[in-house]
Amino acid sequence: RKKQLEQLRDLKAETTDGRQVKLKANLGRPQEVDAVVSSGADGIGLFRSEFLFMDREDLPSEEEQFEAYAEVVKKMDGKPVIIRTLDIGGDKHLPYLGLPEEMNPFLGWRAIRISLDRKDLFKTQLRAILRASAFGKAMIMFPMISHVEQVRQAKSILEEVKTELKQNGIAFDPNVEVGIMIEVPSACLIADALAKEVQFFSIGTNDLVQYTLAVDRMNERIQHLYNYFHPAVLRLIKMVIDASHRHQIWTGMCGEMAGDPLATELLLGLGLDEFSVSANILQIKERIRSTSFTEAKKVADHVLNLNTVEEVQQYLSQRLP
Ligand code: PEP
Ligand code: MG
Repeated sequence: RKKQLEQLRDLKAETTDGRQVKLKANLGRPQEVDAVVSSGADGIGLFRSEFLFMDREDLPSEEEQFEAYAEVVKKMDGKPVIIRTLDIGGDKHLPYLGLPEEMNPFLGWRAIRISLDRKDLFKTQLRAILRASAFGKAMIMFPMISHVEQVRQAKSILEEVKTELKQNGIAFDPNVEVGIMIEVPSACLIADALAKEVQFFSIGTNDLVQYTLAVDRMNERIQHLYNYFHPAVLRLIKMVIDASHRHQIWTGMCGEMAGDPLATELLLGLGLDEFSVSANILQIKERIRSTSFTEAKKVADHVLNLNTVEEVQQYLSQRLP
């Protein structure tokens, strides 16, 4: 069985009727990049930059960050690497940043909200990413976007950094693509407006489920309520993909749903352009390669009319080989 999957490594992620999608990997630590290279992934759909900031006493310098990003970008050898800017706060703490104790950390000072308030820290990270972009194909992604203004501000700080690099004669890719995580319901609802600001979306179902269903992703007691097959989540996903296509940009998914074989046909049918998975990349490729896009669209239409998680899961389970 393993051998069978291995044979898929160099084949495209393509449906039986010729719809091609990108199949990428999520990355937590730079050391994992060798495994990604040998998995045959089309790139890295989510490089969580938090690892660089955690388990240490102080902020990583621009140089340290540059080296980590550049190593990954070089090893991916021209394949795209989507580097997500710092996504701290919520359950992830940095003692040295002096994050305040908050009543609702997941609704508090986290991710892009911190970056926009701590411009010094944000600019250092953007400089490091831009410098790494000279060595391959890096893309920049902002987490936890809920307001259009946040994207505009982040992009304007990015432009500031680019200008400074240019003035100093430091190399970077001037066309580096910029995208955002879609992981808050408000972002789904204003996806049309957001699509005008960026080159791509990546749906973060881990947070999207939490915020849509008002279910803490860390709370064991209510885990039975936490499920990405909830009809509300599915409708939001559809809205996002449709909005992106109306504006000629693409949508990926880097939350855990992307790596669930039970969801593959549905996501293809909804028009998802890119899957970025944490594990089992070849298993997802096998699913994609045995799916008909025409059929998948019918499946998606059907599923969008179901009313409960259970109905959705049951219907999709029946369709598994
Ligand atoms: C997500 O929210 O789905 C996501 C990919 O980001 P993280 O799990 O790092 O919050
Ligand atoms: Mg998230």
